[in-house]
Formats: sequence, structure tokens, C-alpha cells
Amino acid sequence: MSPIRTQSTERLQIDAVDALPTQNLSHNHTMVKRFKTFLYPLQSLLLLFFGAGLAAEREFLNRIEEDLSNGRIDEISAIELQLQAVYEPQELPVLYQQLAVDLICDPTPIKAKAKRFFVQANDAQRARLQRWFQRPDSTIFSETIVSPAGYFKIHYAKEGSHKTDPEFARQCAAIYDQVYEYEIDVLGYQTPPSDNYRHGPEYDVYMRNISAYGCTTEEELVPGAGNRAFNGFVEMDNDFTHTPTKGLNAARVTAAHEFFHLIQLGYRGYSTVNDNERFFYEMSSTWMEDVVFDSINDYFFYLNSFFSFSHHAFHLFNGNHEYGSAIFLHMLEKKYGHLIVQQMWQELRNRDLFASLQAVLQLKGSSFNRELAEFSVWNIHTKNRADTVRYYPEGKNYPALQPKASYELSDEMQIDDQSGQLQTATYRFVTRIPGDYTVQPQFDEPSNWLLTAVTRSGTNNGSMLINSGNIAATLYDLNLDDEVWVSVINTRLPGAIYQPQDMPFTLQIIPGVAGTTIENKIQKIYPNPYLPAQHASVMVEYSITQTHDQVGMRILSANGQMIFQQQLGYRTAGYHREEWHGKNFAGDQISSGIYLVQIVATEPLPIAKIAVIR
Ligand SMILES: [Zn+2]
Repeated sequence: MSPIRTQSTERLQIDAVDALPTQNLSHNHTMVKRFKTFLYPLQSLLLLFFGAGLAAEREFLNRIEEDLSNGRIDEISAIELQLQAVYEPQELPVLYQQLAVDLICDPTPIKAKAKRFFVQANDAQRARLQRWFQRPDSTIFSETIVSPAGYFKIHYAKEGSHKTDPEFARQCAAIYDQVYEYEIDVLGYQTPPSDNYRHGPEYDVYMRNISAYGCTTEEELVPGAGNRAFNGFVEMDNDFTHTPTKGLNAARVTAAHEFFHLIQLGYRGYSTVNDNERFFYEMSSTWMEDVVFDSINDYFFYLNSFFSFSHHAFHLFNGNHEYGSAIFLHMLEKKYGHLIVQQMWQELRNRDLFASLQAVLQLKGSSFNRELAEFSVWNIHTKNRADTVRYYPEGKNYPALQPKASYELSDEMQIDDQSGQLQTATYRFVTRIPGDYTVQPQFDEPSNWLLTAVTRSGTNNGSMLINSGNIAATLYDLNLDDEVWVSVINTRLPGAIYQPQDMPFTLQIIPGVAGTTIENKIQKIYPNPYLPAQHASVMVEYSITQTHDQVGMRILSANGQMIFQQQLGYRTAGYHREEWHGKNFAGDQISSGIYLVQIVATEPLPIAKIAVIR
């Protein structure tokens, strides 16, 4: 075992495959047996990676990804193969049939991607894609039941491979009414747009034999509503014998999940968002399953993978992570109430996703970055570390988080690592020599990073600390065997395409109380001079020594008159960057001249100057 200094994530994952015993993890989310965390002396640290067996779980999806990147198949074939796996697995090419086909829980996002593709496709491509948007054939799904309250029409087949037990269909109809009443009448979401009386005024649900729980297919654009709302229809499995949760309980969570997709389409069509935003649809629908049916807990099946790969990006979309990440909304619901999710969907009508999350959280006196940091702390408190009062109400049933690495705390050490956009690297330390320790981070762009530290001794969950930038975190009075969990959160937002960009960082662990001190100061304003004709906005980078609930930014003219002011909300001690669009209170572009920029924490920071040249 070599000492850990510099190793890339990729390299570590390769090591992990060799080092770990084979896990008995079948494609249908069997509970994973957890490994013990090994601890080695400082000079022979072992980084542990978990979930090697999960690679086998994704044999089918990985093969498609591989064939796509090697040019063996095109993007439309990749979409078609995934939809075939759900709708007609017997039609898959032999090569793919031999692979362990993953349970694609919900092909809704694949169809959304197909639809976005469709818009720019040529005629031949359109001909291939078209059939996946069609409603099931009415001559096969010829039987119908209108739900007791009249909201839904259930379509099912009397015979053939899609044959559905009429009694099961009747029970499902009642379940959909129950879901409607909860999501619309109790929670207050807007009703999904009408499907223009196709098969009558009801929302249509088709029960068919699919290798999934269910699917919601987006259909027509609904006029008004910012031209982003769509209607659609729902399909669900006809018997739920192949899913981890079975029978009526599976039908319940599927109804809660898919009907919420139908609601979502009324706020913002799935096909209108970019790849880095689509996780939010699955995150929201999976969260909703547990809101409507608290006792079923199908979402637990996604958490094994989620807690094994704690360093996966927040917005990662891989057929599993986006479901497990539903617990982020359970965290926000506990902190702020369930309406916070609805407010996010309302914002999403007019903005991109991360701006929507930020806008809503800012109204709560928080920020997206802060919640991302707290999420890392909540995720430590599960299984044996669960604290159902302060953290997740169902946290005792969640798997324990697998740290990116475990270390002993006894001497000076250094961790060199890297992280991409919205990735969190969590490390676990166990105290071998009691005393004070300082964690000194070093980031190239400090305003893109947050650091959290949690100290646990015995059953005491200790204190949580959130810092930003290059501020040292001091851990006082650690006892023998006390645990410390440190998370490094990359808060840089992703672009429209999923392209993680690894950014290096260093953590130094130093015995004793040490660390760099920072000042209340504007560090940098750029571009300076600011040329509105060429530059979209001005960036203001600053550091503050203490955390403030309400930080503000002011722009003054050279003679001290305030021409613009903005409340920025909660900011942690450390480094931050704010954006000013070069406009005054009235929203007009300001004229040429020298201006003064002021950041106000409890007290104003020293003023900095900027030149504007129009
Ligand atoms: Zn879904």
C-alpha cells in the first residue's frame, strides 16, 4: 500500500475493483452487504471504494454508453435500445440480450431525450423515433375503467401478453384518485393540463407489461404558461411482479411518482430542460412517493448505491443516483415544509433549475450552496449514526455513508484530491492521539468551495461547521476514538452538458490550533475596467471573517450616492463571489465613470473601485 499523496479518482476506482471481494448484488437492488471500514496507520493509508458490484449491475447501460462513445451505435440507437429494454426486451439484438439488463425504473427521461432529439432529427431518424411517443394501441388495450372520482381512465388488455386482472385494474383506478386528492387537493399543486378529451375528459393510464414501474409520456404543448407546459399520458406495469416492491404497494408508489410527472409537465415540459436539469424530475417524483405513501419506502432500494458513491455529483443522472437523491428534498421538507418543492416548480416555469433552487432558498434566508453543504452533514447521520430528531426522520433505515477515504488522526498529513462540479468528497478520520487538530484547505478558486466538519464522540453528534474558501477548520479537544467527518463541496454549477471538470485541492491536517487568518476585504473586481459592450457582468470577490445571515452589495457613484443595492442572503465565513450586471436601481446600464463597490456584512468592508467605460 503506497502512502496517499496524489491519486486521481479514476485510478482509485481501478484499484478498488481489484481490492474488493465480489459483491453479491443482483440487478434488482438486493440489499448490499456492507464492508467494514479498515483503518491503517498514517504511512500506509488505504482508500476504500465501494460498489464494485454495482458496475456489473449496470452491464447493459454501460455497454450502450461504451458502444456510443466508440461510434458502434448512434445516439438514436442508444435511445431505442433503452426503450426496447423496457417495452420489448425480446426484440433486443442478441448481443444486448445476453447482458444483465438493468431495471430501468422509469423510461420517462429517455423519452424526454428522444423528444428533444426528434426536433432536430432528419426524416429517417424521425421515422425511427416516432413510434415511442405513440399511445398504446386501443385495440389491444380495449378495456377501460373510469376511476370512482372520475379523474382517470384506466386502459387494460383482456388477453395476450399485456393481460391485466380486472380487479387489479379497479384497485389501481382507486389508487390514482387517492394520489390525485393528495397531490392536488392536499398539497396544492396545479392540475395537469388536459389531454384535449382524448378518450374522454380523464387522464389516461395504460396498464401494460413493461420492464419498469411506469412511464409518463409528454405529448402536446399547451398554449400559454410561457409556452413550456405540456400534457401527456401514463403507462404502468400490469402486475408488478418483477419490481423490488410488488403488487398494490408498487402500484401506489408508481401512481404517486407518475402522476407527479404529469403535474410537472404542466409547470415545465421534460423535453425543455437540459441534461443537467433532468435529475430534478426524478428526484421530485421519488420524493413524492414517500410524501403520499410514507410507509411503503420503495425509495430505500436506490439508497445503497447513493450512499456507496458519496462523491457522485449532486446532479448526476445515471438511472439510479437521481432517485436516491430524493432525500435532498426530504431534508428541505423537514427544514422548511413541503411547499418549498412546489415553489421550486413554480420558479422552474421561468428560469433554469439552479436559478430556481437558489431563488426559493434565498427567500428562506439560505442558499443552494449552504443546503448542498448541509446535505453532506445529513448524509453522515444515517444507519447507526442516525439522529431522527435533527436529521432524516427515516435515517435509521438508510445505509451508512461510505467515505471517499478513511484516515487516522495522529500526526501531520496531507490529502491531495480533486472534485468536479457539485461533487462532495467526504473523508472520515478517527482520533488516535487526542488533542486539537486544524484542517487547512487549499483551493485555487476559494469562492467555488465549501467545507463541512462534524465531530462525533460516542453517541454525541457534536457540532457542525460550514466554512467556505481557504479558511481553516479547528477541531478542539478530540478524545481517543472520536470520529471526524470532513466534506469538501465543489459548488461550481454545471453547464448545459454533463462534463465534469476535476479541480484539484489539498487538505492539510495539522495537530494543534493553526491556520491562515483572513480579512474582511474585497479581494478582486473583474473585469476592471468594465466595458458593458463587451462584458456581460462584473464579478466581485471578497472574504469575510464571520458567517452572516444577510450580506449585501452596494454600488455607489464617485461622489458617494448609492445607485444600486442587492441583498445577497446568507454567506459563510470565507471567500465568495457575487455578480453585478452593471445596472442601476431602474435597471438601466450605468454611464462611464469611476464607481465604488461595497460589501456589507455586519459592518461595511473597505470600499473598492471600478472603472466603467461605455
Ligand atoms: Zn420518473
